[in-house]
Amino acid sequence: MDFFKFKNHNNNNNNNNDDSITLESFCGECLIDIPIRAKHCKYCKKCIATYDHHCDWVGNCIGEKNKRLFIIFILNHNLELILSIILVNKNLN
Ligand SMILES: [Zn+2]
Ligand SMILES: [Zn+2]
Repeated sequence: MDFFKFKNHNNNNNNNNDDSITLESFCGECLIDIPIRAKHCKYCKKCIATYDHHCDWVGNCIGEKNKRLFIIFILNHNLELILSIILVNKNLN
């Protein structure tokens, strides 16, 4: 959101009215102006701020509010993978 305001402020100072650079776009389904880096998810049927991707494993979108939890989730899975490899190797030998 801060980045969006910064870019908009710069454009106003330069009197740059170039329509080819759109800083925000309109979502036809939610009927709102969505800020930069936000995107409408066709599975969740709503706009997500700082959209990363729709995760089928989590069953939800990964965006501004849950990206830290998602990183912790991924790190836990990596840890679990490493531990399981160690345990399998111990039991095989
Ligand atoms: Zn939308
Ligand atoms: Zn989604």
